[in-house]
Amino acid sequence: MSHYQKPPELYEGLRLHQNENTGGCSPRVIEALARLRPDQIGFYPPYAAATDAVAAYLGVAPDRITLTNGLDEGIMAAAVAHLRAEVGGPLLEAIVPEPAFEIFRFDTAVAGGALVQVMPRADFVFPLDEVVAAITPNTRVVFLTNPNNPTGVAMPMDAIRTIARRVPAGAIVFVDEAYAEFSGESFIPELDACTNVVVGRTFSKAFGLAGLRIGCLVGAPSTVDPIRRAIPVYSVSIAAVAAIQAALQDLDHLQDYLRQVIESKAMLYAACDQLGLSYWKSRSNFVLVCAGDRTDALVKGAFARGVYLRDRSTEPGCAGCLRIATGIVDHTRRAIAVMEEVLCAAR
Ligand code: PMP
Repeated sequence: MSHYQKPPELYEGLRLHQNENTGGCSPRVIEALARLRPDQIGFYPPYAAATDAVAAYLGVAPDRITLTNGLDEGIMAAAVAHLRAEVGGPLLEAIVPEPAFEIFRFDTAVAGGALVQVMPRADFVFPLDEVVAAITPNTRVVFLTNPNNPTGVAMPMDAIRTIARRVPAGAIVFVDEAYAEFSGESFIPELDACTNVVVGRTFSKAFGLAGLRIGCLVGAPSTVDPIRRAIPVYSVSIAAVAAIQAALQDLDHLQDYLRQVIESKAMLYAACDQLGLSYWKSRSNFVLVCAGDRTDALVKGAFARGVYLRDRSTEPGCAGCLRIATGIVDHTRRAIAVMEEVLCAAR
């Protein structure tokens, strides 16, 4: 298994390749960071107030929330907690319906687990029967993402319930809701009924806090506790603690971004229709576009013009596809202009 290849550090142009909020965080976050005192930075950070704020935002009790250094940390901790085989025991399995956030694959390998990939259907409709058929007595984690990355397609809530009923005792269903603000749908209200489900959230995307690294796990304390043990005690910095509280006090900033995402997607769909590119209607802040044999030229041509798009053509089911973040309307406009220029020049 090869290692995760971080995208190159490109910060000069327009970053539409990592699904970030290219408008950045709320100005209140900057003010909160500027107000941090030397003693606060000198001490290990307190988490209670930030945990309470996140719990209130997600509508759960604070004992359901575990803050993490980005959702990436929550995913790694879930893999480490559940996929390490006992000496002489069988390999423990993680099921990943593809195409998926590639970190699931890499973290499964790091934890020593066995990866069970479920290949996609042509239309990316969620392959529930195939996932259920992949469950074995050694299944320990099913990694689901709703809405999915890189497709932007949502999965039915009922599929999560069915999978939660079918996994063996001791296994968890990990529902990655990195993009749930955009779809407006969450499994969180069901966690009391489905105690083997853990939801992961991030404040990197909708709240524009990717650079500060803050996310959380949500679930029944007894389910999340083993995962919590795999998270370093002070992995979330005081900067992230201050930032998340400030960000959650400015939901207008969030709403404005959500509005722009809807407008951006409509603009990109219209441009793709004009350019003869197919795409999947997205519930997220990005769109998977199929440019077929023009994908490489499009990604490279946009790159040369300072607009970064993500070639996803080697992901399962994504041949000829690229992913484009659709957030700030001005940025989408620029991306569309560049796509038109590149594709016309290539004719
Ligand atoms: N899950 C998914 C599906 C993602 O796309 C991402 C970010 N690319 C993450 C998790 C990681 O989020 P964070 O920045 O909070 O680590």
